[in-house]
Amino acid sequence: MKHWTETDFEQGLYGLKDRDAHLDECPECRGELERLTQERRRVAAQPEVSREFLEAQRRNIYRRLEEPRRNWVAWRWVISAAMLLALALGLTLQRSRPTAPAISDDQLFSDLSRMEQSAEPKAIQPLHSLFEE
Ligand SMILES: [Zn+2]
Repeated sequence: MKHWTETDFEQGLYGLKDRDAHLDECPECRGELERLTQERRRVAAQPEVSREFLEAQRRNIYRRLEEPRRNWVAWRWVISAAMLLALALGLTLQRSRPTAPAISDDQLFSDLSRMEQSAEPKAIQPLHSLFEE
């Protein structure tokens, strides 16, 4: 005797599989199918919504439809303030960003003269390994 598989239960739940002899013999599978059936009924049931709740919801919607401008005015100030803050932060962060490490003039000039003497850009150098034999 083979128990129902998960697929069997799914198909049985949606009416794609008839109850077979195994269900009559096996209380385990019968109980599981019963449990799943009740669970499905519970989930599919319409939620209980009272008439008062729906009326209050509708009143709220109408109330908010009537005063959209007031909210927008408030939001306009919030957005302006946020943009000003972002701008101020951006300026502050840019100013306080650490500068490149200082190098001495001698170092700078020797680097510059070396760059000038080498005829080929530094970025080309890794490509040499591709062509060496
Ligand atoms: Zn079974």
